[in-house]
Amino acid sequence: MDKTCEMNYKVVDSPLGEIEISACEQGVHEIRLHGGKTPDAGAVEAPPLPELLGCPGEMTAPLKQCVAWLDAYFHEPAALKDLPLPAIHHPVFQRDSFTRQVLWKLLKVVRLGETVSYRQLAALAGRPRAARAVGGAMRTNPLPILIPCHRVVCSSGAMGNYSAGRATKEWLLAHEGRLAEKPSCPGGSRGGGIPHPQPAGGTEDLWE
Ligand SMILES: [Zn+2]
Repeated sequence: MDKTCEMNYKVVDSPLGEIEISACEQGVHEIRLHGGKTPDAGAVEAPPLPELLGCPGEMTAPLKQCVAWLDAYFHEPAALKDLPLPAIHHPVFQRDSFTRQVLWKLLKVVRLGETVSYRQLAALAGRPRAARAVGGAMRTNPLPILIPCHRVVCSSGAMGNYSAGRATKEWLLAHEGRLAEKPSCPGGSRGGGIPHPQPAGGTEDLWE
């Protein structure tokens, strides 16, 4: 499984500017937000259709799936639940680590339109005290948007950081209808939207 991956690349246009996807035949490796457009939090309703730049004939299956997934994300979010997630093949997912656990939980548990606090996500990944490490894992997320690190916010309700910039995070949350109702955890302590954080010490899958 450590064979060198032969990478394919695709650049798609989006309301957030160009997005570059890289994938091998086994799965997607990275999504990069190149920016180039200033996201306008007011223009959420009618983002322009993404144009495919480049030659669609050469795309591998994971690349095609990822392009289709991003297209639906920006233009028809309701359709996402019927779309398969593209296979993922970035090295961080090929061996066990806290980062992998955090990213995986985020992908599986936190749905479109939901948010989770760094602390809640730490608990989901089996280390309730590791909120800071969750922040670190978010910074290294190789697949932003697909793995929704923009949905991870501070338990105070503050938005927190985002590697592609706070304006982008704000845009994404607004796009998902989350900006009006900011999450707040009463008392900022336990509880919140996600049921039953995993007890400390446990490791593997909770509730999939
Ligand atoms: Zn690969």
